[in-house]
Amino acid sequence: MEPSPGQQAARDRIAAGLAAAGFALPGTLTVRAYACGKPSCRCHADPPRLHGPYAEWTRKIGGKTVTRRLSPAELADYQPLFDNAKKIRALLAELQDLTLQVIEADSSQEP
Ligand SMILES: [Zn+2]
Repeated sequence: MEPSPGQQAARDRIAAGLAAAGFALPGTLTVRAYACGKPSCRCHADPPRLHGPYAEWTRKIGGKTVTRRLSPAELADYQPLFDNAKKIRALLAELQDLTLQVIEADSSQEP
C-alpha cells in the first residue's frame, strides 16, 4: 500500500476527527407525528391533527429492533450523542473510501 502525500494528509485529517470524537449512541433517532388506531380520534379528522411529534430512538438489542420514546429532556440530552455518532459514521465512510482509492491505485500499478 503506497498512499500519496495527499492521501496521507487526508488520512491524518480523518484520524484527527475520529480522535476528537465525543460519546456516541447506537441506533437512529427519528422525530415524527403519527395517526393512532382510533377512527374517531382527532388524528383522523379533516384536517387531521396528528399525535406528537415524538422523538423515537430505534436500535438493535440482541438482534431485536427496539424503539423507545424519548422525553423532551432526554432528547435534549441525547441529541448531541446522536450527532456525534453521525459524525463518526461519516468519518469512517470517508476513511473507507480513501482506503479503497489507495488500494485501487496500487492494483492499477501492478504489471
Ligand atoms: Zn389519534
